Amino acid sequence: MDFVKLDVHTHTIASGHASTATITDMAKAAVSSNLKLLGISDHGPATFGGGRPSYFRNLSYAQRKRFGIEMLYGAEVNILDGHGKLDLDNSVLKDLDYVIASVHTPIKKPGTIEENTTAYINAMKNPYVCIIGHCDDERYPVDPLALVRTAVEHQVLLEINNSSLSPDGYRGDTRFNTLMILNLCKHFHHPILMSSDSHGVKHIGDCSYAQEMVKLAEIPAELILNYSPGKFKSFLEGRKHS
Ligand SMILES: [Zn+2]
Ligand SMILES: [Zn+2]
Repeated sequence: MDFVKLDVHTHTIASGHASTATITDMAKAAVSSNLKLLGISDHGPATFGGGRPSYFRNLSYAQRKRFGIEMLYGAEVNILDGHGKLDLDNSVLKDLDYVIASVHTPIKKPGTIEENTTAYINAMKNPYVCIIGHCDDERYPVDPLALVRTAVEHQVLLEINNSSLSPDGYRGDTRFNTLMILNLCKHFHHPILMSSDSHGVKHIGDCSYAQEMVKLAEIPAELILNYSPGKFKSFLEGRKHS
């Protein structure tokens, strides 16, 4: 059976809430979870206590391998408005391995379907944004077809977020939205990325609820990037040249 070998949506103490774990703690936990690749994606500066631009700039000097685990360093930036404005400048984003862009309630208020969809679409037009985080959120309804079409056009991944799907998740019942996205990605043969969104070490590599949805939607294994670090890295590399 295929198993999850990479998780690139995880938060350390630098996110400013719900985690006291250092990058070293996270890498040790990734070893226990049998991951081969771990990505660190702390919140951007608009999040209360989130990482400052200097923190993200320093990540280019961080170790690429810890305890045998391959490390990638990114950010989960905030989408600030309907124009897709982000809370870190491209001058910072360009040196990160990857960028997840997400909406969070204290920072961007939910709008209509059209407004929410436009905010995501505009964020995807930023060449450094390669993943949209938890666009399953019930509080931010979207037009899933428009979202997936843009994701295909700009080669952006629409994350399947395990923490949203967990019974104690706080984004509403996200199963329907998740299935819509999965089915449309399958239709367009667009790759799928699952993530834990673990704040701290506890849930690193745990994509169990996301895997249930992937199974339900009958997504072919070759579309799922979590099963192959090489495939995920090729996807990131391929975007740079497209
Ligand atoms: Zn988030
Ligand atoms: Zn997150």
